[in-house]
Amino acid sequence: MKKFVGAHVSASGGVENAPLNAHKIGAKAFALFTKNQRQWVAKPLTKESIHAFRENLAKYEYHPDHILPHDSYLINLGHPEKEGLEKSRNAFLDEMQRCEQLGLNRLNFHPGSHLNKISEEQCLKTISESINIVLDKTRGVTAVIENTAGQGTNLGFSFEQIRFIIDRVEDRSRVGVCIDTCHAYAAGYDIKTAEGYEETFKQFDEIIGLSYLKGMHLNDSKKELGSHVDRHDNLGKGYLGPEVFKRIMNDPRLDDIPLILETPDDTLWAEEIKWLYALMD
Ligand SMILES: [Zn+2]
Ligand SMILES: [Zn+2]
Repeated sequence: MKKFVGAHVSASGGVENAPLNAHKIGAKAFALFTKNQRQWVAKPLTKESIHAFRENLAKYEYHPDHILPHDSYLINLGHPEKEGLEKSRNAFLDEMQRCEQLGLNRLNFHPGSHLNKISEEQCLKTISESINIVLDKTRGVTAVIENTAGQGTNLGFSFEQIRFIIDRVEDRSRVGVCIDTCHAYAAGYDIKTAEGYEETFKQFDEIIGLSYLKGMHLNDSKKELGSHVDRHDNLGKGYLGPEVFKRIMNDPRLDDIPLILETPDDTLWAEEIKWLYALMD
């Protein structure tokens, strides 16, 4: 088994429920929020919860390399204002520490937004500085930058912007990238066609480097190429269609990393996972 497909499953009732929920849908990988993603502050993880989480990983045979926690949507590591930036950095540090406690080795986040108050370059530099501060205070967890659709003032929609951030990170052994297929397409990367797919990964390798790829989000897109609108769709139902997912499932460059569904209808996840595995030659 080289492909590790799963979904962003619920952790409601405790993080220990996530591996259980992943197992129920036949997932070989999963994503989760380690706290309520809509709140700034959360109670610390209890010893019992941490223990049960680790036990469930062993029981259902999930390896940390195939688990891609996602941070809170409130966090903006490129925030133009002091207060918002401090709050975001503290919250991100807390999330990195939660990953440490759970024995996880990567945390996925959206890089940040300039909110029309600072330049793109200033915002990207602030993001790098945020990563440096948090990496300095933690161990063993890689900060995984997700490419965005470039909606609103969100940065990180081009491989050049992601490279710019990585270039300013001091410990590059603990920074990585997650490609979201919906976001890439909405940002203008035409992964739908065979040529566009190859060109996108060629560019990714040249500009960022494939060794940085620590996960992918598999989503179809409700919006067209280059729309800069972030609207996920279930696989095969949006503008991307099925072909790109067949390419992904047969692409050896994407072996051994978490491939995570964030598609809107979670009742289809079990089916989508099965369908993806069936696409393998
Ligand atoms: Zn995503
Ligand atoms: Zn998205």
